[in-house]
Amino acid sequence: MTTELDPPPATLTRRNVLVRAVSLPLVLAVPPALAACARGPSCNDTSGLSADDAKIRNEAAAYQEQATDPTKHCSACLQFVPGPKDACGSCKVVKGPINPNGGCKLFQPKQG
Ligand code: SF4
Repeated sequence: MTTELDPPPATLTRRNVLVRAVSLPLVLAVPPALAACARGPSCNDTSGLSADDAKIRNEAAAYQEQATDPTKHCSACLQFVPGPKDACGSCKVVKGPINPNGGCKLFQPKQG
């Protein structure tokens, strides 16, 4: 026995199948895309650096793609040189591509 409060029976129409087939990939793709936007561009390609520059970047400066302290990210640093919109920038002291959301031990806050 069915009542007015019961949901309508699920029907397997071609339209329902198509809507679900299109919706599922979109639903699965959105969270990673949003996470990528929050992280900014990928600036890990250090293949063009000399061994010494890579060592300074990775060991002396301890550069990271995401600043461990969100108040000390590269785009707030005196040494940061911005790149084009949504792209890596550069740094006056650490060689290689620099993520605006990155950070390192050499952070210096921009002056007022
Ligand atoms: Fe980023 Fe460090 Fe360069 Fe400052 S010094 S812009 S924190 S890499």
